[in-house]
Order: sequence, then structure tokens, then C-alpha cells
Amino acid sequence: MPQDCGGADVTEDAAKCRGCGRTLHGSPYHTGKPAWISDSKRHGLIRAPRCHYGGHVCSESCDRRACLDLERTMPGHGDGQSRLDGNLDRKISVKWEELRRDYPGADL
Ligand SMILES: [Zn+2]
Repeated sequence: MPQDCGGADVTEDAAKCRGCGRTLHGSPYHTGKPAWISDSKRHGLIRAPRCHYGGHVCSESCDRRACLDLERTMPGHGDGQSRLDGNLDRKISVKWEELRRDYPGADL
């Protein structure tokens, strides 16, 4: 069972952001199908990127948060870790820069 809290209608059929937990359009990550971020202002739906460690993410900050949460559980890391490894940090930046280029003006 998912460990999500709160929502009354949280089902395993919903795509979710790994960073903030909000429901996205599309399918859960483990199905291998895409999820979509709604961008009502301009583009309609934007394909949600994948977190470096797996999972859909809806924003760059969610991406970073999800990665950091996971890294904190790894051996040699810990709750005190406050930033990502420089290499991964840069990879995430590049990924979101590209997405913003593909969807100019999107709220990402
Ligand atoms: Zn999110």
C-alpha cells in the first residue's frame, strides 16, 4: 500500500509527483507509462520528467527534493545532507533547462 497520507481518494492508479506528492495526469511510474503536468496557461499538458532515481516529478524543486530524500537514506549519507552531489545537481539543472526550452513560458 502507498504510504501517502491525507487524500481520501488516493489510489495506486494515479500518477504522482515524487517530490510533493501531488497527483498528476497519467499513469503511475511503475507502469512505465508517462505522466503529465498540466500547464493551463500555455501548453496544456507537459510530459513529466523522470527523477534521477525514478518516479515522476512536477518541478525542478520537486526533482531535487526527491533525489535528496532518497540520498539521505543511502549508506554514508544521512539526514544532515543538505545538497546533492555536484554532478547530479548539474544534471537536474540541465534537464529542466531543456524542458523549459521545449515549453517556453511554461510554469516549470
Ligand atoms: Zn511536485
